[in-house]
Amino acid sequence: MINNKRNYSKVDVGNWDNLGENTYQPSPTFKVVGKKFIRDELGLTGAEISYNLLEANTQIPFTHKHRENEEIYLGIKGQGQIFLDGTITDIREGSCIRVGTDAERAIRNHTSELFVFIVIQVKQNSMEKGKTSDGYVVNKEFDWNI
Ligand code: ZN
Repeated sequence: MINNKRNYSKVDVGNWDNLGENTYQPSPTFKVVGKKFIRDELGLTGAEISYNLLEANTQIPFTHKHRENEEIYLGIKGQGQIFLDGTITDIREGSCIRVGTDAERAIRNHTSELFVFIVIQVKQNSMEKGKTSDGYVVNKEFDWNI
C-alpha cells in the first residue's frame, strides 16, 4: 500500500496471474486460495472489494448468500460460470453480474485457463445518487507537473 492519506489510498495487488499467491483464511478450516480482500488496506467505508483467481478446473466449494450486501461480479480475464438460484450463467472478461442478497450463489472455473474476477460488495438499496449526480466540478486550477 502506498499513499494512505486522509482523502485517498491505493493498493497494488500485482499482476492478475499472480493473484494465486494470496490466501484468504478466516479460520483453520476455511481457506480460499487466490482471494484478496482490500477493504481494510484501502480504508473503504462503503464497499468491500475482493480480487479473485480461480485456477483451471477449480471452484469455490460451497454456495452462499448475503445478509445485507449485494455483490457485483466483474469478469476480468478468462471465463467461468456462476450458479445463481439453480441456474448457471457464464461470466467472462467484460461481464458484470449483480447478485442480490437472497440469491444462492457459487462460482467455478470450468476451463483450462486462469479465471480472474473482482467482487464488489455494497449494501443493497443504499445508493441514493448514481452516475454523475453525486459529483461536482471544483473550479480550481491544477497542474500535472507537480
Ligand atoms: Zn459473497
